[in-house]
Amino acid sequence: MNTFEKDGQYIAHTYARFPLQIVSGKGSILTDSEGKEYIDLGTGIAVNTFGTADEEWIQAVTEQLKKFSHTSNLFYSSPCADLAEELCRRTGLKKVFFSNSGAEANECAIKAARGFAAQKWGQDRYTIITLQNSFHGRTITTLAATGQDVFHQDFTPLTEGFVSVPANDIQAVRDAVKEHNAIAVMFETVQGEGGVLPLEESFVAGLVQLREETEILLIADEVQTGNGRTGQLYGYMNYDMLPDIVTTAKGLGGGLPIGATLLGNRVESVYQPGSHGSTFGGNPAVCAGALNVIRRIDESLLADVRAKSQYIFDQLSQAEGVKSISGLGLMIGIEPVGDAKAILAECRERGVIALTAKNKVRLLPPLNIPMDLLQQAVDVLKDVFAQCGKGE
Ligand SMILES: *Cc1c(COP(=O)(O)O)cnc(C)c1O
Repeated sequence: MNTFEKDGQYIAHTYARFPLQIVSGKGSILTDSEGKEYIDLGTGIAVNTFGTADEEWIQAVTEQLKKFSHTSNLFYSSPCADLAEELCRRTGLKKVFFSNSGAEANECAIKAARGFAAQKWGQDRYTIITLQNSFHGRTITTLAATGQDVFHQDFTPLTEGFVSVPANDIQAVRDAVKEHNAIAVMFETVQGEGGVLPLEESFVAGLVQLREETEILLIADEVQTGNGRTGQLYGYMNYDMLPDIVTTAKGLGGGLPIGATLLGNRVESVYQPGSHGSTFGGNPAVCAGALNVIRRIDESLLADVRAKSQYIFDQLSQAEGVKSISGLGLMIGIEPVGDAKAILAECRERGVIALTAKNKVRLLPPLNIPMDLLQQAVDVLKDVFAQCGKGE
């Protein structure tokens, strides 16, 4: 059997994969099993921050692998301590818990919010308000937090204590907080899976105001928006606010699995020895790679991300076959006149890999994609959007 057949026979059918097998890559280029090359505008869903097989990142990881790859959290080790220091220094948050994925980072945030509320207000106050159209993960609890019913079907009962309200409707949040005696609001600064939709500034300002009045916690799910993706180190930095809890994953690892939950001063002491844990969390090799990634996301790289973003918006917002374009930094959603899946297939045919989010074409290129490759890819996108928009 070839890989396609084996996958079909032995792997649980949870993914509708693209019909191609990646065998190697370098930077912003991926190569499939037929030897065909693609410009990568997907980065493994915002994971490969500096592209594929990045030399500096490989060196950081392999140097650590040669020393030791795992110790368990029963011992001290420097890579996770250094990474936590860097994350706290760059955000102003106080403590970090490391895990292995976005869903786990969110689980840790939800547990922290519940622990905080139980200590402050007592056990019977626990509801977290989330936003409709959000995405927070696939575990039973993060599914409950996810405000999209399509993901819930057949998997109920979900964890109780979550209520979702429309995004950008501050009155709806206020009403829900009051009605449910809520302890926190959890949100993505740009809804990724929901269609690459940034929150409105006035809405985020309203959340900050609501926190002042009610002492609820603000939890930013920066699993996708984090680590330079939006043109700031974290998505919330595009707004005038500091969340109480920030979760991140995807791009932090630069290609290896990691989750991080950053705890601000109000919640930094919620967890005590024994109250949370993870066998692999803070893995030294993964953290050594993540430290390399986070150190390279400096002001000059971020300015570059914003400039490339502007280029994509300029080129595509008025292009033929494009209805609308949204997003922040190098996290961009394009609403096509034609069918997004057909556009992706035609792009692959022409050597460009992109993604979808709902009915949109989603772009998540490497943050350091060279300008000539980005131009080449945008030219292909323009052609394909125009071609697939005809006759619709
Ligand atoms: C991808 C994603 C998650 C889930 O992360 P996993 O690593 O797949 O568990 C959670 N929240 C957001 C905003 C995401 O984009």
